[in-house]
Amino acid sequence: MKVDVAIPKTKLDFFTYSTKDDLEPGDLVVVPIRNATKFGIVINKDSQREIAGIKSVHELVEKNFIPHKLLKLYKWMADYYLSPLGEVLKLALPTKILKKFEFTRRPERAPSTVKAPVPNHYQSIAIKTITEALQAGEYATFLLYGITGSGKTEVYLRCVEKVINQGGRALVLVPEISQTPLLFERFEERFHSEVATIHSTLSDKERRQAWYAIKEGRYRVVIGPRSTIFIPIPDLKIIIVDEEHDQSYKEHTRMPHYNARDVAVARSKFENIVAVLGSATPQIESYHNTETGKYQLLDLKERIDARPLPKIEIIDLKDEPRPYITPVMQSQIEQTLKNDEQVIIFLNRRGFAPSLMCPHCGFTAKCPFCKLPLVYHKSEKDESASLSCHICSHKSPVRTVCPKCGRATLLYRGAGTQRIEELLRKIFHETELALDKEDSLVVRLDRDSARRKGHMQTILKAFEQGKAKILLGTQLVTKGFDFHDVTLVGIVNADITLHLPDFRSGERTFQVLTQVAGRSGRGEKPGRVLIQTYHPEQYSTIFDQLQNYASFYTQELELRKQLGFPPFSRLILLRLRGENEKNVWQEAEKIYDILKKIHGLRLFGPNRSFYYKVRKNYRVFIIIKVSKNYPHRRFKFLTVYKPRKCDIEIDVDPLEVF
Ligand SMILES: [Zn+2]
Ligand SMILES: [Zn+2]
Repeated sequence: MKVDVAIPKTKLDFFTYSTKDDLEPGDLVVVPIRNATKFGIVINKDSQREIAGIKSVHELVEKNFIPHKLLKLYKWMADYYLSPLGEVLKLALPTKILKKFEFTRRPERAPSTVKAPVPNHYQSIAIKTITEALQAGEYATFLLYGITGSGKTEVYLRCVEKVINQGGRALVLVPEISQTPLLFERFEERFHSEVATIHSTLSDKERRQAWYAIKEGRYRVVIGPRSTIFIPIPDLKIIIVDEEHDQSYKEHTRMPHYNARDVAVARSKFENIVAVLGSATPQIESYHNTETGKYQLLDLKERIDARPLPKIEIIDLKDEPRPYITPVMQSQIEQTLKNDEQVIIFLNRRGFAPSLMCPHCGFTAKCPFCKLPLVYHKSEKDESASLSCHICSHKSPVRTVCPKCGRATLLYRGAGTQRIEELLRKIFHETELALDKEDSLVVRLDRDSARRKGHMQTILKAFEQGKAKILLGTQLVTKGFDFHDVTLVGIVNADITLHLPDFRSGERTFQVLTQVAGRSGRGEKPGRVLIQTYHPEQYSTIFDQLQNYASFYTQELELRKQLGFPPFSRLILLRLRGENEKNVWQEAEKIYDILKKIHGLRLFGPNRSFYYKVRKNYRVFIIIKVSKNYPHRRFKFLTVYKPRKCDIEIDVDPLEVF
């Protein structure tokens, strides 16, 4: 008998081997490839492929290693995301997963005595509807849309409880555990040692142990980031995707560039189970799916205990002499601190200043590779000051003298979180700069401060316990935290995400601002939000609708319709990267000419990427626009297409189109 075997990390769908064993799809085998032996997954038995000098399977390691339905999902991903099956397996089977292992069970924890809150009217409807679908035992996808603070987590918990009571298992996807500690805590409180958690900080060995333990059914609930979607789970009955709009569900760096939210829906279909996607700011495509009947909408219309949404106020920065912490912002912070309440200050830009320039000759410090302005970072505890490129991470030493005209008056322009931190400390008379000090008034949370291990938890704890009064940070502070004493959220500059040349930039700004605004007034006291902007008129549609998703959606959808963008079409982005600029363009033209001959698509490009040069590589992209049901197999040739002297990257349903 001949079998087809998919081998992780290979650039092909499968290889064909002969065997005397009675092998079935999903079996784990060891096979020879070139001069090595590798693990592989049998994907077809009775292969008809004719091969000269065919080799035979070395041994069968485990029967039914990947369940049939999951294998179907992997194959679907290879087709849909235009990636060889070998590459899908590379992501699906984590590093060294196939090595031998020992498993130690986690100690049992005493059952907690936490009482579950009583669901409100809208929560009850959602729970009832999902429960009915679970009982029907058929595929269904729900979009659980609930404004910030409306209690989506309680709906998840109740549904998972139902699943467990019926002997089933649940998978919960979260953007990143360290950023959603609250959700994880609530699940552990409710289900104790039945919960398995996949952290990004697990060692290879721990990851492998967890993977096998989950596969063997030792846990009832599995919580993890996007890659968790690949794990085999017996009697899986429900997949929950929290914050379904979150960009971290998209694999950005490796092929295939899948979106775990969409793979979750596909997996639910293959396994004939229920999927629940939750968000306060659903992606436009997701909400549109509720209108076409693809998903069912569940609407949590009010905050828990009918708490009011925060009051939003816009500050026009054009005439402000102090553009970072404006007088209004300052007095509001003072008032809030006087009331013994807490403040969150948001600025989506880290570092001290986004550029360093010479006022005499106009010189700006730029990355020698990417040619983009370098961001000035002040020295901190364990980091010396530097000029750093946020695109390629290149670091240059800080200059004090202009290299062009020789004068010593370089100016820091603009502000990042470090500068705002310094300003806040100055205004509120705090001299100690040690961030670690727990009774510090201001704490800062961004990728730089969170890099130190355990530091993020320290900051969040200090703020949660009320030791720190002002939490300042980037997008990291917009995630699912629930601080009850926060009554003021200040947005230093709302314009930052809007300048990217992308049809999603309006949507993204809406999402970020709504999420951060939603941190205000989650306790008993009502909240306020201050938004500072240079373009109050231009972006008024976004600011006005921050608490009215339906209205934002209607406008945004109309715009997409006019432009023929998703959800009215499907996009595939091809990006070529190479060191020889001319060659990259030539190769892009070549692909363009091939694609031009394919029927029924629209092509854009080749164009320079927004980040045209990253390190040594020039980046050029082509966008393919097709109708939503266009057969992807027409592009299958791209999975093995090899341009000369450059790399090609294929992104189906890209989140960034530049
Ligand atoms: Zn760079
Ligand atoms: Zn100069």
